[in-house]
Amino acid sequence: MRTLGTKMKLHASALKSEEGRIQLFTVVFDVMVPAMKAQPTVFHKFIDMIYSVNRLLRWYNQNFDPLGKPEERRVLQMKGPWPTLVDIHGDGRYLRCGKRAQHVERLRDFIPEGWAELCFREKEANARGNEAKAHGDVHATKEAVRDKKEVFRKKYEAVRTLLPRLVCEGCIDDSEQRAKEGKRKRSPGKLRPDILLYGEQCNDETVLWEMQKRDAASGPAVLVVGTTLKTDSARKFAYDFCQRSACAVWVNLEAPPKDLRLHHVFEMDCQEFAAQMMSYLGSRISVESRKRIGKRTRKEGDVVSKRRRTS
Ligand SMILES: [Zn+2]
Repeated sequence: MRTLGTKMKLHASALKSEEGRIQLFTVVFDVMVPAMKAQPTVFHKFIDMIYSVNRLLRWYNQNFDPLGKPEERRVLQMKGPWPTLVDIHGDGRYLRCGKRAQHVERLRDFIPEGWAELCFREKEANARGNEAKAHGDVHATKEAVRDKKEVFRKKYEAVRTLLPRLVCEGCIDDSEQRAKEGKRKRSPGKLRPDILLYGEQCNDETVLWEMQKRDAASGPAVLVVGTTLKTDSARKFAYDFCQRSACAVWVNLEAPPKDLRLHHVFEMDCQEFAAQMMSYLGSRISVESRKRIGKRTRKEGDVVSKRRRTS
């Protein structure tokens, strides 16, 4: 077996072979299993604070982990209404059929037993290996490498055994129904992660651009956070917003692209930025007013907020 780089493991071409599917699902389980138990970060709390005073127009989220997301999976309709949080790279909590995208299953029903423990062992072996390397302890370094290989082998076997189960039940039901009606049976699709892979076009591309066009038209304040905008579509998405915004802000450890129209650049960790902003905003938004505004509709909240700003 050949280990691919993360980008290739998350590339659409991975779906074409058993080896690719094993490596793709391994990455998805590695991200999703710890994330399902994780708590919201400071940044999530910062977003929630903006949302609570009805000042969040939209959160275009590139992460496919479950943090900050509502329980149900949402399908975007061209006409709307559109949710405040939009997953532009999909939702890792779900698997969808490779043939008929409306057939969806929950990822958690397919997580191999003991995966969380394997992740913990791997993390622990990594830490032990790094420490042993720093101290020049060859024996401990070899032991840590052996442990990591053992974890890799167990994960590989667990996913390989799982693959035959990743067949779409929705297709099987449809096919049986067709047979009852005297029609030709159809082969079922294979389940795949409900996330946007490299080299793929987003299923909701048309709706997202319509949403972007309407959102950007009002010239809202824009926060570009934790993305380097390496892909063409992400860059175009953000450029259009920043071009029309009267307040475009960049937050990242890396510098922004040179031609992005920005008003403020914070080259710092986004969690630290969120903590500072919460502290700054916290003194201006009393808990009482947040509760009061939060109960009203967006329109009413906007009026109250404008009054507060001008007073
Ligand atoms: Zn299906």
